[in-house]
Formats: sequence, C-alpha cells, structure tokens
Amino acid sequence: MPGLPQAKAGEGISTQTVAAIRNNRAFINSDSQIRKTSACPVHGLKDKSMTEEDLLALARSAALKAYAPYSGFHVGCAVESVDGEIVTGANMENACYRLGICAEQSALTAAQHQFGLGKVARIAIAGGGAENGDLNGQIVCTPCGGCRQAIFEAAQLSGRDVEILCSNGEGSAVDRHRIGELLPHGFGPANLRDAD
Ligand SMILES: [Zn+2]
Repeated sequence: MPGLPQAKAGEGISTQTVAAIRNNRAFINSDSQIRKTSACPVHGLKDKSMTEEDLLALARSAALKAYAPYSGFHVGCAVESVDGEIVTGANMENACYRLGICAEQSALTAAQHQFGLGKVARIAIAGGGAENGDLNGQIVCTPCGGCRQAIFEAAQLSGRDVEILCSNGEGSAVDRHRIGELLPHGFGPANLRDAD
C-alpha cells in the first residue's frame, strides 16, 4: 500500500502567511489591542444582580442535569441578561454522537426565548465529571470553538464584549475571559452588512 503524502511543517506557506500568523499571535497576546479593536465594546452592567459565585453555582447545578451518557462530561451554563435575568442549560448528547448539543448553545437558546440574545451580558460555564450528585474535576472548562462563535453572535447583537466565567468541575478554579479575547477577529452579524 503506497504511503500517504506527509505534510512538512512550513512547506507551502508563504512568507506573508507566516508574517500574518505572527501578527495574529501578537494580537492575541495583546489584551489592550483586543479591547481597542474588538467589535464588541465593553459596557458596565446596569443591574448585576448576582455575584460571580452565585452565577457559577447555577452553572454547576445545571451541569448535573446534563444528558451525557457517552462522554460522562457534564457541562452547565448560566446566562445573565443586562437586567439580571438568568437562564441555564446543559449539554445533551445523542446516540448519533455528532448531534450532541453544548451547554452554552442550550443556554443561549433559552436566553433568546427568555430575554433575547441582544441582552446577554455575562455567561458562566462549569464542566467535569458527575458523581454522587456532585460535579468534580480540576481542569477549567472553556467554551469550544463552536460555542465561542455562538457567544460572539450574542455579543455583537448586544454590543457588549460578553464576560465569560469558566470554572472547573469542583469549583476550585475560575478563569475570567471576554469573548473578544476568546475569539479574536470573529465573524458576526456585523460582517453581513456588506450584503445589504
Ligand atoms: Zn461548545
């Protein structure tokens, strides 16, 4: 059987592409630059009704309602609106593996129903194993690429660089991000204006 062609690192990549990749890394590493060039300006919340701890507790509680018999990885998400309304969601797997739904997209669907994507202000995520009615695990759970795109949609609609609190399962570690940081150079509804 003939061997498959092997890709060699760097082969076929132009010097312009290499320069672009370097620039992209510099962009990602520069927080101030992200804030300045983000399509989603940062605004203060009018009514932040929940503490970070409370919002994360809701995400961890939602994770326990996940349907995750295949991966055993339970993720919960809580979405807070600019007015302090909260909705939650959890991942839902399927025997047809690729049809599984992430917690973030589950919660964002509920957010659209409850108050509209344009009011999304803050999101908390927690993920890990579930045992004896409790969430466990030490690795901080961040949104997958698809969910970053879904959050970016809400962010551009709301005009906010949405806050994302990411927790591990046992709740001992929390990372704080903004969607503009997790998805730099994102493509969103604003890009489609050129089609008008
Ligand atoms: Zn996801």
